[in-house]
Amino acid sequence: MQRARLPDRRPGPEPLDALPGAVLDLGGTVVARQQVEIEGSTGADALAKVTGLVEALHRQVTAPLLGIGIGTPGIVDLGGVVLSAPNLGWQDIHLQALLSERFACPVVVSNDANATALAERSYGESAADTLLVRVGVGVGAGLLLGGTPILGSRFAAGEIGHVVVDAGSERPCVCGKTGCLETWLSTRRIQEDLSGARTDAERARVLTVAGEALGSVLAPIVAALNISEIVLSGPHRVLEGPLATAAMETIRRRALTEVHGDIVLRLSELGDDIVLRGATAMVMSQQLGIA
Ligand SMILES: [Zn+2]
Repeated sequence: MQRARLPDRRPGPEPLDALPGAVLDLGGTVVARQQVEIEGSTGADALAKVTGLVEALHRQVTAPLLGIGIGTPGIVDLGGVVLSAPNLGWQDIHLQALLSERFACPVVVSNDANATALAERSYGESAADTLLVRVGVGVGAGLLLGGTPILGSRFAAGEIGHVVVDAGSERPCVCGKTGCLETWLSTRRIQEDLSGARTDAERARVLTVAGEALGSVLAPIVAALNISEIVLSGPHRVLEGPLATAAMETIRRRALTEVHGDIVLRLSELGDDIVLRGATAMVMSQQLGIA
């Protein structure tokens, strides 16, 4: 299962934070699909919604179940423990153990951005040195260097959502700080900001500001690692246009043009199911040794 599947419409008052899940066969075809809206749930409530969704999907399984794969926001260790997911109010949630005990099958849990990067590597056309930015309830990045996912010493590589973009900003963040990237870029906050925009120009301004915030966080990463490609994953109707343009312009302005001028920024073509496909790839890799 994955999170943050979004309807293909312009941003509006409808919730952007849904938990989507699906049953897939070995060929990657979706057999059944279901989702639950988070509606601001955190802690045990959010966990109950995740468990309920898995249970509902589990009832629709008609063939032997190979395993359950989950892409979740937050920092996840190799044992499938969500060490921290501020947006869901989760800390040290033993998600893999909880679900494998309850459903009596192998479970693999990974950060959603890392699952997304894995999907891009397995099914997409990503370059060997790619930064994949996942915009959903939270904002995270999956990093591939030489085709290898980079997890970091505490499994928190790519946790860019709580990098402070503007120390003088009073925009409060779920992590307790103000002015974090997520306060401009998470789907919840973009939805809030867009709901206050009256005209197309105001909407474009909201998305441009979010893109500039993203670009300012990505520029030093691009400069430090000489990344050749940035892939944005999330609701296309939000990401494409002013947001992606502003992010790219900000990176070009802030990083050394001669060295990083040919960097490509594109939207993932794998669509709303990208985390689902990454989670499927994780299960196939773990259970069948298929990369
Ligand atoms: Zn924060």
